[in-house]
Amino acid sequence: MRDFAAELEQRREAGLYRVRRQMSGPHQPLLTADGDPVLAFCSNDYLGLASHPELVAAATSGLDEHGLGGASSHLICGHHGEHHRLEDKLAAFTRRSGALFFSTGYMANVGVITALAGKGDTIFSDALNHASIIDGCRLSGASVRIYPHGDTATLAEQLAATEGHKLVVTDGVFSMDGDIAPLRELATLCRRHDALLVVDDAHGFGCIGPQGRGAVLEAGLTEDNVPLVVGTLGKAFGTSGAFVAGPPLLLDYLVQKARSYIYTTAMPPALATASCRSVELVEQDEHRRTHLTRLINRFRSEAATMGYDLMPSATPIQPIMIGDPREAIRLSGELEKRGLLVTAIRPPTVPHGESRLRVTFSASHTDEQLDQLLAALRESAPKIVADRALSSV
Ligand SMILES: *Cc1c(COP(=O)(O)O)cnc(C)c1O
Repeated sequence: MRDFAAELEQRREAGLYRVRRQMSGPHQPLLTADGDPVLAFCSNDYLGLASHPELVAAATSGLDEHGLGGASSHLICGHHGEHHRLEDKLAAFTRRSGALFFSTGYMANVGVITALAGKGDTIFSDALNHASIIDGCRLSGASVRIYPHGDTATLAEQLAATEGHKLVVTDGVFSMDGDIAPLRELATLCRRHDALLVVDDAHGFGCIGPQGRGAVLEAGLTEDNVPLVVGTLGKAFGTSGAFVAGPPLLLDYLVQKARSYIYTTAMPPALATASCRSVELVEQDEHRRTHLTRLINRFRSEAATMGYDLMPSATPIQPIMIGDPREAIRLSGELEKRGLLVTAIRPPTVPHGESRLRVTFSASHTDEQLDQLLAALRESAPKIVADRALSSV
C-alpha cells in the first residue's frame, strides 16, 4: 500500500498541509474560530448577506411552507415550484432567457463542461480558471488547451489551429487574483472562430456590473455574445446553490445531459425561497456595493504604502502576494496573533511561487474593522518586506 503518512509529512514540511478551523455562530466578520474570537477577512460573503435577518426569515417561512428535504432529483419529483421561481428570478437578474438551478457551482461547471464538450472536441481554458472548471475539462474527455492567463493573442492562435467543436471557458472575476477576464475580446474571438463561450462569474455576480448583474453585463455583453454564464449563490448572494443562465436550447440540452444536474438530490426548496429574496436584496441595495468599493479603495491605497505587493484588482478579492508558502503562513500567523483571520492560499490552489494572503472584503465590514486590519498589517509589514528583500539577493 502507498505510504499515505509519509506523503502527509512531506506536505507538512513544505508548508502545504491544510487544517480546518471550527467556526461557531452565524457567518459575519466577527467569528469564533476554534473557540477564539477573530475578525475575519477571508469569506466570500461579499455583500454580508449570509446571516441577513430577511434571508433567515425567508428560509424559515420556506421551511414552514415547503418542509425540508429535496426528496429526489429534479427529473424524478424533486423539481419544486420554489426552484422554478428562483430560476425565473435569476433569468431576469442576469437579463437572460432562462436559468437552471444547480446544487453547487462546482457541480454546475462540471455539468456544463462535460455536457457541452466531449471526445473529439477541444476546450480552451484560462490558466487560472477555478478547480471546478479544470475538473470539468478533465472529466469531459475533450482535448484541453490551456492558454496563459488572459492571453487572447495565444488563444486566437490556438483557436485558428483547431478544427471541430470548440468551447472556451473562463472565470469572469478570477477567484484568487481578483482581476477580470478580457470578456469583450474573448467574445469577439469566439464569434470569429465559431466557439461556444462559457463564463463562470462566481465572484462577479452581486459585486460588479449594473445592480450587481456581473462582469458580462458590465462589459456590455449579452446572451448573443456570451451564450452561457455560471454563477454561485454561495458567495455574494449569501445562500447556497448555483445557476447556469442562457438560451432555452442550451438549458434544455443541459437538463438532458448534465450528469451533475441529473444524478443528485434537488436542494431544499426553502433554500430557493431564501435565494429568491437574496436576488431582490442584491438588485435593490446599492448601498452595500458602495460601501464595499470604499473599503476596497481605502485598503489598496493604505496597504500599498506599507510596501505590500498587491494585484491589479478592483474587486473584493485583494491578494497580498508573498511567494513562499511558509512565508504566507507566517504572515497569516502574525495577523492571527492580532485577532485577525486571513487565510494563506498555497499550491495547488495557486501556482508554485505565488502563495499569498487572500484578503477579501464584505459590505458587513465596518471602517473600524478595516482600521484593525491595516494596523495589524502595518505591524507585520517591516519583517515581511525585509525578508522578501533578503530572499531576492
Ligand atoms: C467558488 C467557485 C465555484 C464553486 O462554487 P460553489 O457553489 O462554492 O461550489 C465555481 N467557480 C468559481 C470561479 C468559484 O470561485
